[in-house]
Amino acid sequence: MLDYTKKEAYERSALRVNPAKTCQPVGAMYAALGVHECMPHSHGSQGCCAFHRMYLTRHFKDPAMASSSSFTEGASVFGGGTNLKTAAKNIFDIYNPKIIAVHTTCLSETIGDDLNALIQGIDIPEGKYMVHTNTPSYKGSHITGFSNMVASFISYLSVSTGKRNGKAALLPGFVNPGDMRELKRIAGIMGINHTMLPDTSGVMDSPMTGTFEMYPKGGTTVEEIIHLGDSSYAFGFGKMASEAPLETLLKKCQVPYKLLGLPIGIGRTDEYIMSLQDYTGNAVPYSLEEERGQLVDILIDIHTYTYNKKVAIFGDPDTVLSLAEFVLEMGMIPKYLVTGTPGEAFEKEAKALFAKFGVKDCRAKASGDLYELHQWIKEEGVDLLIGGTHGKYIARAEDIPFVRAGFPIIDRYIHSYMPLVGYKGGMRLAELISNALMDRQDRDAAEEDFEMVM
Ligand code: SF4
Repeated sequence: MLDYTKKEAYERSALRVNPAKTCQPVGAMYAALGVHECMPHSHGSQGCCAFHRMYLTRHFKDPAMASSSSFTEGASVFGGGTNLKTAAKNIFDIYNPKIIAVHTTCLSETIGDDLNALIQGIDIPEGKYMVHTNTPSYKGSHITGFSNMVASFISYLSVSTGKRNGKAALLPGFVNPGDMRELKRIAGIMGINHTMLPDTSGVMDSPMTGTFEMYPKGGTTVEEIIHLGDSSYAFGFGKMASEAPLETLLKKCQVPYKLLGLPIGIGRTDEYIMSLQDYTGNAVPYSLEEERGQLVDILIDIHTYTYNKKVAIFGDPDTVLSLAEFVLEMGMIPKYLVTGTPGEAFEKEAKALFAKFGVKDCRAKASGDLYELHQWIKEEGVDLLIGGTHGKYIARAEDIPFVRAGFPIIDRYIHSYMPLVGYKGGMRLAELISNALMDRQDRDAAEEDFEMVM
């Protein structure tokens, strides 16, 4: 009989149980939805496309439009070239997008379809565009797919005329539309003329108008992506999601960049704002100083509830690292950090963070899964769990307060409208965390009272 409290019993090198990630095309589809009048296209069978759309729709509670090459047995044997050709004609004829953004699936990658050559052989109507990225799901995660798609938009479309346009490119990383709005709001307050790519605000959080819009008002336009090549500077958030597209923009159009952590919490938001200040030379307006002061005040107020509490955080690598830094700022201990996305950088950055704040006996794992996280928690418990919806089973089994943050959150509403980034996002997170801890304290106190009465 195996003893599941011992790590030898659950450590695996190949199998993942309940991985803290999903497949590459989900990220590619999300990135393509952030381009105005773009039809994300899944080059594979209908089941993949249906799954990716469902996954995004359940998180955002808004329809994720996408088309499929609809592979059947023939395409699986002979390749999907003909399917793609027919699909492109149908999509341009029926849905009239400005651009089709194709991503691959496991099946088309295994067949070895050469998308570059296939697209060159397609008759694309004048003034329309077709781009692609490779998203084999036996590698990376939805974050890799997101990053690949953003890099492909730049590599296909952005052009440098040799004259800088004074604008800053903002690459937000894999975040909610509410976060994108907040990043833009801060850039606006700092007086930065910018283009965000991708920008799902106004697409995945579009208002109810009573009329179905295949292409809602939001999203980066194709023209803006073309002019991205003339940007004076670029800021990207989150190494795993934004470094590759920033590098593509640098190599193709010589746009210098700064890579920042996702600005969750005080330190990382300060870094974002100070970087904007260095770029423009503009002073930080009082309105931002005031928000920062309010957040500091809130953290002091709730300190008695948060101090020394142990937290387990799982989800996307850039989000988990920034959440970990924020809980450290709150006096908490990020005992366990897990992401399903592979990559050594995650564990390295996590260790640097533990060292910076002087916390010991914390663990971080990339390519991890929720099964292993659960076993860690059984070995030594935590006071709080933070992550997407799938963590609720651990929270329920171990009776731990649970704060939903990150992706996917399929059993709650409104979250994608509310930022986690910036000082405002910090206030919201602080509210969620302190409420969860206080609810637990209230419940424990009520149980104690009940026992005394009995
Ligand atoms: S087959 Fe591959 S691309 Fe399709 S849903 Fe599964 S993991 Fe994703």
